[in-house]
Amino acid sequence: MGTTYRVTYVAKTSDTPPSQQAVEDLLHEINASVSNYIETSLLSQLNAARDTSALHPVDRHFAAIFRRSREIYDDTGGAFNPALGPLIDAWGFGPKQPQALPDESTVRTLLKLSSFDAFDLQESPAGVRKGIAESQLDFGGIAKGYAVDKIADLLNDSGVQDYLVEIAGEVRARGKRADGGTWQVGIERPAEDALALPNIQIVVDLENAAVSTSGNYRNLQEDAGRKVGHILNPRTGYPAMSSLLSATVMAPNATTADAYATALMVMGLDEALKFVESHTELSAYFIAMDSAGGIVEKRSSRFPKDSPSRH
Ligand code: AMP
Ligand code: MG
Repeated sequence: MGTTYRVTYVAKTSDTPPSQQAVEDLLHEINASVSNYIETSLLSQLNAARDTSALHPVDRHFAAIFRRSREIYDDTGGAFNPALGPLIDAWGFGPKQPQALPDESTVRTLLKLSSFDAFDLQESPAGVRKGIAESQLDFGGIAKGYAVDKIADLLNDSGVQDYLVEIAGEVRARGKRADGGTWQVGIERPAEDALALPNIQIVVDLENAAVSTSGNYRNLQEDAGRKVGHILNPRTGYPAMSSLLSATVMAPNATTADAYATALMVMGLDEALKFVESHTELSAYFIAMDSAGGIVEKRSSRFPKDSPSRH
């Protein structure tokens, strides 16, 4: 996944926590299924295939991520769209660097290929059909969250009831820390310099929940001197650039938090706030730029207050 992970847990003597090897085996298994950087992954093979009638076999990870993606695609009116592969490559956020960024007519052409409706999941045997030969899936907006949930399942199955699992900013916690305190997460203040010291905007408690932050302040490309972010607006085919610098979602699990955080960046602040208020399982915290270039924060009514004690 091109990043780091961390698993912290508190185990009782009766627990049999998973070994580091077991966690890494699981992560490799998920990568072998849905990575678009591994050429032999199921996803890369499906993306490279041009046959629109063939049923391409998929495993349980692929099928689960596909199914949840479909629900969130429907629920967000397509703001979350895992079929943006051709556009993601063209904008330079895929595995290969393009010669130049796409012009208007290229964007229009690629947008037609970026249809999630053209993909069809069949259950048993599990397989996917692509209705458009050049279409490509990209689960970059949901797969890390899914991996966090699968590690959480490993811990749950082993009897461990207190843990914090994190993959590059996708976090899920259960129970308490070893000192009896509540797990806490810091939400970063947006800074373009990836090497800048982490600068924490707020700290919140995480109680049996997951949190995910999507941002447009890192992983940028230059388009005619303008910086463009890696989250694309499926309605236009262009990078979703609004006043929003980051969207943080709290949800019962990390798959959900991850996918919705990406979708909220597409919606922009006003639409995103309304959306979250109408979804009782979600709450969100936004950092946006005001017209004077200053930073403003907004939180949905259910998002927790700042943690009273900071450890
Ligand atoms: P995240 O960091 O979770 O917000 O995911 C961003 C990644 O999701 C991008 O790097 C793309 O791989 C992919 N992506 C970009 N735009 C979208 C979108 N509108 N819906 C779903 N996935 C997207
Ligand atoms: Mg995401």
